[in-house]
Amino acid sequence: MSSLTNPIKNHPNDHVFDLPPLPMDAEGLARDFKRYYAHTFGRDRDCQSAYYPYKALAITLRDRLMERWKRTRQAYDDAGGKRAYYLSLEFLMGRTLSNAMLNLDIDNAVETGLYDLGLLLEEIASSEPDPGLGNGGLGRLAACFLDSCATLQLPVRGYGLRYEYGMFRQLIEGGEQVEEPDHWLRDGNPWELERPEFTQRIQFGGRTESYRDHAGRMAVRWVDTHDVLAVPYDIPVPGYRNETVNTLRLWKAAATDEFDLDEFNAGSYPESVAQKNAAEHITMVLYPNDASENGKELRLRQQFFLASASIKDVLRDWIRLHGPDFTRFAELNCFQLNDTHPAVSVAELMRQLMDEHHLEWEAAWNIARQTMAYTNHTLLPEALERWPVRLFRQLLPRILEIIFEINARFLAEVALRWPGDTDRQRRMSLIEEGYEPQVRMAYLAIVGSYSVNGVAALHSELLIEGLFRDFHELWPEKFNNKTNGVTPRRWLSMCNPELHGLLNETIGSGWVRNLEELAKLVPFAEDAAFRERWHGIKQANKARLAEVVAQLCRVEFPVDALFDVQVKRIHEYKRQLLNILHVIHLYNRIKRGDTESWTPRCVLIGGKAAPGYVMAKQIIQLINRVACVVNKDPATAGLLRVAFVPDYRVSLMEVIAPGTDLSEQISTAGKEASGTGNMKFMMNGAVTIGTLDGANIEIRDQVGADNFFLFGLTAAGVESRRHHYDPNGIIANDPELMDVMNLLESGHFNQFEGGLFDAVIMSIRNPHDPWMTAADFHGYIEAQECAAAAYRDRERWLRMSVFNTAHSGYFSSDRTIGEYNETIWHLTPTPPASL
Ligand SMILES: *Cc1c(COP(=O)(O)O)cnc(C)c1O
Repeated sequence: MSSLTNPIKNHPNDHVFDLPPLPMDAEGLARDFKRYYAHTFGRDRDCQSAYYPYKALAITLRDRLMERWKRTRQAYDDAGGKRAYYLSLEFLMGRTLSNAMLNLDIDNAVETGLYDLGLLLEEIASSEPDPGLGNGGLGRLAACFLDSCATLQLPVRGYGLRYEYGMFRQLIEGGEQVEEPDHWLRDGNPWELERPEFTQRIQFGGRTESYRDHAGRMAVRWVDTHDVLAVPYDIPVPGYRNETVNTLRLWKAAATDEFDLDEFNAGSYPESVAQKNAAEHITMVLYPNDASENGKELRLRQQFFLASASIKDVLRDWIRLHGPDFTRFAELNCFQLNDTHPAVSVAELMRQLMDEHHLEWEAAWNIARQTMAYTNHTLLPEALERWPVRLFRQLLPRILEIIFEINARFLAEVALRWPGDTDRQRRMSLIEEGYEPQVRMAYLAIVGSYSVNGVAALHSELLIEGLFRDFHELWPEKFNNKTNGVTPRRWLSMCNPELHGLLNETIGSGWVRNLEELAKLVPFAEDAAFRERWHGIKQANKARLAEVVAQLCRVEFPVDALFDVQVKRIHEYKRQLLNILHVIHLYNRIKRGDTESWTPRCVLIGGKAAPGYVMAKQIIQLINRVACVVNKDPATAGLLRVAFVPDYRVSLMEVIAPGTDLSEQISTAGKEASGTGNMKFMMNGAVTIGTLDGANIEIRDQVGADNFFLFGLTAAGVESRRHHYDPNGIIANDPELMDVMNLLESGHFNQFEGGLFDAVIMSIRNPHDPWMTAADFHGYIEAQECAAAAYRDRERWLRMSVFNTAHSGYFSSDRTIGEYNETIWHLTPTPPASL
């Protein structure tokens, strides 16, 4: 047993925990800061690094979180109510420091205290690394949800993986994406608390055998396994000014201390030690694929590692509080699965209940299907997870047996409902038959859950009409919608402090917790003086963004121009290509002198491409080449600027959203499940140009058609058009698009590199182009012209901007989490005792 988990005999009495509350004023904060800086970290006046002030401040704040954290845990234990667990392979948390200060309501005190020591808070805060433990929207949603759960004082714990390397750092070299590893933990993470006492042992490989247990019943054990330890690290998640601090528990893989004796005896000591290394690889790196699956064995290991460790942790906690009786377990626990990534949890919960806690199949199954809930995030076929049965058999043999048994019982139920319909049984089977049989993870998640939800109204509708149609017919009551939201703390209060101040002054401060109160702004849109202040704040935020663009892209963005922004993962369905075609169209107009009543425009695009996604990387290169040609042509001066911002991430979005006028949400209708970037922009007063896709539809419903630039086919339109889609005909009949294609095909953006963009051009001309870029081009440039005209009418634009913020209340993740709780979780808000 490790010294860290070795129990002590002379237990400290409660006086050890008997501490007065820590001071929250500038002086008290500065005193602690000085002590950590000088004594704990041993720095003196020669230290030039901004990192140690950051670290000293982080620990100062962590102490304040710590005392509230313990009280929150205590309150949940004392209440003995139901709890929920949010299982996710990704948590894109962003920086912690500013968020902790805002939520503890000590931002001003800290700023003053540091200022008196000659330190600038902003500079210190910017030396915090941005933990990128997620790809994009799905991971960021998990982070917004944790913030809302803490603010609503719900007993919800996040479970994820503590990747040593998060999302890669993106560099742009010669217009191309270059990936660099992001070793975000190199200098340590002051926000995490290691809990080795809660280490779990996770099994892989081996085989199964049956035996008779002490009561004479047949049972199964999983033996000869290669085990890996899961060590938890806890991250505090503070609620907004309410004394609650919830927990995000991240698992790190570690080798067991045992030697492989066979290897050892054979004299291969180094090989035996090297094996230990392999165990630690499990949490080494986040897979950088967004909206596409990755069939690697290591990825399945990660998924099972998260599922098994988290469920063991929950069952351990259950036994601590209730003893080994599971009759009330389903009543008091709930697991929310963020996509199918943790779907193996269904079978793993069954395994632990049966093999480790000796429940019968029926009892275990009733628990699983009353505690698991599944959120679907995409309809794209390339994102639907399937794992080869062969891989399961080798890596998780006991889990495969359980999946087969679940499937046999499920298909019997299907047969009972639709006698003789073997085609339906084949369609609905958890196992896809074929040359290489596969486990369908989404079906496992549906069969093993009591709730299945999509993430926007359209998406949930399309799910039950298409992908999950058979399952909806069988169990209509399982299916529901939960339109996504984002936290107004990070995405308005924290990232746009000037607007936060104006809102407080105008409508009071209740909106931060109850975002629907933003509707009180509506009458102020008619107040010219108010609009002038609104304008001043937007211009200041644009200046801040322009500074970042100048520094990162070496492109000047004049703040009087329309700031037109598209930042998100690079994917063909999101159609960054359509955006750049519009830029080329504007460039053509400038070159032919068609610039009467022109609206100066600065186009900003950013986002990462999955390293193996060749087309997405070509699109990045095209954007950069177009930017290069446009920006250096004297004819575009004062009319058009284009920049690609490298390494798009949460901390960049915190500068981008407040400084944006026009938000680009231009995916092919039916393909973007929800989008959440669209909501962050709206909250910060940007107007959307977009298709009827995902949550755009609901954004337009809320803000009104007059305050949204709509274009393009509908989801139904896209599907019916597929059969007779003729992009070459569209191009031939649209002189504007023809001009754009001619310029592209002439090699104007790839001089001396003939053919560089052939694949991109072919994708536009391909009658089977799934994203139908050409079909929406004309509607798009018309909508862009409407946006440009609206921007020239400053008062009109300001009204639209105010309306967008005013009607963004629905898109608070507090509303979303309220709905999860009302209809799926049924948790009781449980405030801690105050200090
Ligand atoms: C919000 C956010 C996303 C999701 O953006 P979409 O436009 O919804 O795809 C992705 N990455 C980061 C860093 C974000 O903050």
